[in-house]
Amino acid sequence: MSLPVETTGWSCAACGGELEIVKVGFTYMKGNFEVDLPACQECGQVLVSEELATGKMADAERILEDK
Ligand SMILES: [Zn+2]
Repeated sequence: MSLPVETTGWSCAACGGELEIVKVGFTYMKGNFEVDLPACQECGQVLVSEELATGKMADAERILEDK
């Protein structure tokens, strides 16, 4: 059994709350994007790894270049 984004066993670094996947919108190079990121259900802290952020930015640049 596998999920698109695995959060089992993760917990918030700030409060130890459970994480859930939320859509986070951001603007980059005049484009608007939505990404699925793990966020804390308790305090709303969004957790994003440098690797994930870099990958999403690369995707965003590719989308813009295709236009
Ligand atoms: Zn938290």
